[in-house]
Amino acid sequence: VKRSGKNHVRFYSPELDLASGNLVERQRELRNALVQRQFMLYFQPKLNPYSGELNGVEALVRWQHPERGIVAPQEFIPMMERFGLIVELGNQVLELALQALQRWLAADRAIPVAINISPQQFGRDGFAEHIIARLTHYGVPYRLLTLEITETVAMADMTRTEAVLSRLREAGIPVSLDDFGTGYSSLSLLRVLAPNELKIDRSFIKDLAQSPAARVIVAPIIEMAHSLGMTVVAEGVENEAQADVLRSLGCDELQGFHYARPMTGEDFARWCFEQPSL
Ligand code: C2E
Ligand code: CA
Ligand code: CA
Ligand code: CA
Repeated sequence: VKRSGKNHVRFYSPELDLASGNLVERQRELRNALVQRQFMLYFQPKLNPYSGELNGVEALVRWQHPERGIVAPQEFIPMMERFGLIVELGNQVLELALQALQRWLAADRAIPVAINISPQQFGRDGFAEHIIARLTHYGVPYRLLTLEITETVAMADMTRTEAVLSRLREAGIPVSLDDFGTGYSSLSLLRVLAPNELKIDRSFIKDLAQSPAARVIVAPIIEMAHSLGMTVVAEGVENEAQADVLRSLGCDELQGFHYARPMTGEDFARWCFEQPSL
């Protein structure tokens, strides 16, 4: 529930909006937002757990709404999927990420950027070629753009998925398997997809410091990923106790509010400047 105006309370649950018959209005508004380029990226640092160095950032989309201000992705991504607008959003996110990369490169900073890829985007014909073409267009080294995909993306059409992933691998574009552990992740799927990186879902990190059971789950995931040559990232690290456990388990990268929240490009530049180790 968000308050706007004086006594006016508005609900932004997409389900509620749909139920109240605002479907057409929502779709019009989201289409307009794409035309008006109202989407922007926030960046959240990913850090080396041992040195504190910046390893890269995850780009997270926000809707800069003219009246409501900054709107979080859960509020619009499900609707954009339903309306068939998510591919266009994904294209704009790609452009924004490449523009940020280009700006940082111009300032002599090669900061790897990870973007989230929706199933519909991944499923488009020529997906890999499009990514390669845009990287080339911006003159950004392929290794600096990581594609975060989920199992849902992967499992829709395994034969095609394997082909797309091997094309990306060939080109040297890193792929990260996001939200690992939340779906039906199997060892064989991991072996087939062979991502460069595995992101352990926040839900497992949450209980890590208190619950020995959570450790029992996370420890072998890290070990297995390492034995398959993958980098392991923990997302949603909120305190030092969690970071300690993750370090003791050999985790390669940490991301979470404990270090930094997602922030605008401007705030990120300031954040970098304030880091003693950077
Ligand atoms: P995700 O890919 O799992 O992204 C991580 C989410 O966890 C982000 O939420 C981030 O702000 C949040 N987070 C990071 N550290 C912490 C922490 O320490 N504690 C807690 N409680 N949360 C933390 P955000 O930005 O609201 O994004 C939510 C989801 O929306 C993302 O989950 C991703 O699935 C989707 N999304 C975001 N940007 C894009 C995009 O450009 N394209 C697509 N297709 N999906 C996106
Ligand atoms: Ca992600
Ligand atoms: Ca995630
Ligand atoms: Ca998640």
